[in-house]
Amino acid sequence: MIPVDYHLHTSLCGHASGGIEDYLNQAVSKGIREVGFSDHFPLYFLAPGETIPDYAMAENQLPLYVELVQQSARVSPLRVKLGIEVDYVPGFEKKLAFELAAYPFDYVTGSVHFIDGWGFDNPAEIGEYSKRELRLVYEQYFKLVQQAAMTGLFDVMAHPDLVKKFGFRPECDLTPLYEETARVFKKAGVCLEVNSAGLRYPAREIYPAPTLLAIFYQHAIPITLGSDAHNPEQVGAGLDEALRLVRSAGYKEITLFNRRNRSFVRI
Ligand code: ZN
Ligand code: FE
Ligand code: FE
Ligand code: ZN
Repeated sequence: MIPVDYHLHTSLCGHASGGIEDYLNQAVSKGIREVGFSDHFPLYFLAPGETIPDYAMAENQLPLYVELVQQSARVSPLRVKLGIEVDYVPGFEKKLAFELAAYPFDYVTGSVHFIDGWGFDNPAEIGEYSKRELRLVYEQYFKLVQQAAMTGLFDVMAHPDLVKKFGFRPECDLTPLYEETARVFKKAGVCLEVNSAGLRYPAREIYPAPTLLAIFYQHAIPITLGSDAHNPEQVGAGLDEALRLVRSAGYKEITLFNRRNRSFVRI
């Protein structure tokens, strides 16, 4: 039994497919009790007129997204939560705080997908890895994740080691960086998302890696669970494996959110 999947996208972002009802039907058939949509928040950090095609919902689609999720919550047999996945880009915190406050989100998930404008998880920008020193890429990535956590804008930090997505891994020991990240998460009071999408990519590993999850557990960082589904078939995919991983790390509960307040479900 999968208790929850808190990372579902919708076709509004431009690179996911299927209707909200299709995602929910799949969740029902997989025996998932509670789901949360967390589609890509509008790109608040771009200059006026600038755009990244098919990356996120447009600003004027946000009210529709909220309405569609709320409407499905009213009719679905599942508990349906209103989340959102927000790219963290330093320097726009005030603007973002203002925009987030306008909607009754159950939880806000913070993601780092850009290192100084480099979309490091975008297949089109994969060539950049070979031009950089991987140790520095990882350091920059985790510093941004830490900075995002400390803004206080996010309840959950998504796919905490996304930088491994394409399988580029530095040879150095990442433990100090992991330890520092866990300490910052503790101080910031954020949850981390255990995200099964890494299984679908060359990393072939859940985010976070078992060694990183063990460190988060030592620091008593609460977890959520998400498949990062971009089509209905992906709902719940890999979450059985994610549950095995978190149980073997020692976790006994998963965090749930309602209007940004936490509760817990035993696993
Ligand atoms: Zn996406
Ligand atoms: Fe993401
Ligand atoms: Fe996502
Ligand atoms: Zn994501």
